[in-house]
Amino acid sequence: MTFDLNPEQDQLRDAVRALGRRYGHGYFVEKAKAGEHTTELWADAGRLGYLGVNIPTEYGGGGGGITELAIVCEELAAAGCPLLLLVVSPAIAATVINRHGTEEQRKRHLPGLADGSAKIVFAITEPEAGSNFHRLGTVARRDGDDWLLSGRKCYISGVDEAEHVLVVARTEDAASGKLKPALFLVPTDAAGLTRSKLDMEILSPENQFLLYLDDVRLPADALLGESLDAGLPALFAGLNPERITVAAMGAGTGRYAIERATEYTATRKVWGGRTIGSHQGVSHPLAHAAVQVELARLMIQKAATLYDAGRDLEAGVAGNMAKYASGEAAALAVDTAVQALGGAGMTTEYGVATLLGAVRAGRIAPVSREMILNFVAQHVLGQEKSY
Ligand SMILES: Cc1cc2nc3c(=O)[nH]c(=O)nc-3n(C[C@H](O)[C@H](O)[C@H](O)COP(=O)(O)OP(=O)(O)OC[C@H]3O[C@@H](n4cnc5c(N)ncnc54)[C@H](O)[C@@H]3O)c2cc1C
Repeated sequence: MTFDLNPEQDQLRDAVRALGRRYGHGYFVEKAKAGEHTTELWADAGRLGYLGVNIPTEYGGGGGGITELAIVCEELAAAGCPLLLLVVSPAIAATVINRHGTEEQRKRHLPGLADGSAKIVFAITEPEAGSNFHRLGTVARRDGDDWLLSGRKCYISGVDEAEHVLVVARTEDAASGKLKPALFLVPTDAAGLTRSKLDMEILSPENQFLLYLDDVRLPADALLGESLDAGLPALFAGLNPERITVAAMGAGTGRYAIERATEYTATRKVWGGRTIGSHQGVSHPLAHAAVQVELARLMIQKAATLYDAGRDLEAGVAGNMAKYASGEAAALAVDTAVQALGGAGMTTEYGVATLLGAVRAGRIAPVSREMILNFVAQHVLGQEKSY
């Protein structure tokens, strides 16, 4: 057992940290408040090869795994730039296309995802279905060689920045007549696809959208994979990378918040010569949050290692636990940091309260804490399913 990164991973961590610090949380907040995107940071990360670390070298990537992508997510977040689209585009979309797309789809889409010139976002959530993906109502029908997609999706991140959206729909299985999931690569400018931006209480340069698909006509090769049978495994293929990278983003955000707070409490003096941090009422909550963040990081490392070793089922348990632990730790760390900073904690200048909305959302999305607890109760503790 080792808890060390290998030399290449260490180098990657240092290099991403340096890039993140060059931009910093001020840049992230400025872009969010201006209603703009972190285009420059994304382009730099793509040029330096960080967005494609997990994509095979023959498609322009770095040939690494989710361990490497988790490092990128964590370090950018630890520099105050938690980019949700890292989870959506390189983690979910690139993994799904690489593992279950056709060779033609891999050649067409992966190089752009690797160098950051293209983004593919992911649409599964629907207003009526919510956490219950068995109720998905977006339907794909055959029309000659084409497909026609109709339905609604909600909270879809980054549609305004992406060239394609990977839409989870249902098709009728010719043999059984049952509906089964299928994934489609839908151009974001396709006729019949419209969107409206949701007003979210999250300070972020990345936006969420409602999507309306009204008989969106797609060619046969928009279906992900060689046949409809690719749908279900493709859907599952995205889950572990999603859980692990979003957990890494949360751990990075937690580290960022604790660092901001401890810098402050180690120097701020309001009772004579002693610092605020000397008071255990201030330092213990910060230490407690630091322990929670570090525990989450350990579980992330375990999940990523299992995933990269091809042990998908075990990675599923560890990835869900990592996501749960990190979501809770990040929310605790940011809230504790705000408190430790006092009034300064609520200012934009100190850059901590700016993350309150994002970490709160991290306990809901992309999978809620309750659905993870359901998973652990059933698959680890052997309890009966309640739904
Ligand atoms: C910032 C943000 C970005 C997002 N980006 C995307 C995206 O890019 N693509 C995408 O497809 N989706 C995205 N989502 C959607 C997200 O995945 C869903 O919000 C999430 O899965 C929960 O679904 P819901 O909101 O419909 O909640 P609901 O399913 O309505 O659940 C409401 C509450 O009930 C709880 N609950 C539901 N069922 C159970 C149960 N059986 N047992 C116990 N508790 C239960 C839930 O945990 C939750 O607390 C995003 C959401 C947010 C907030």
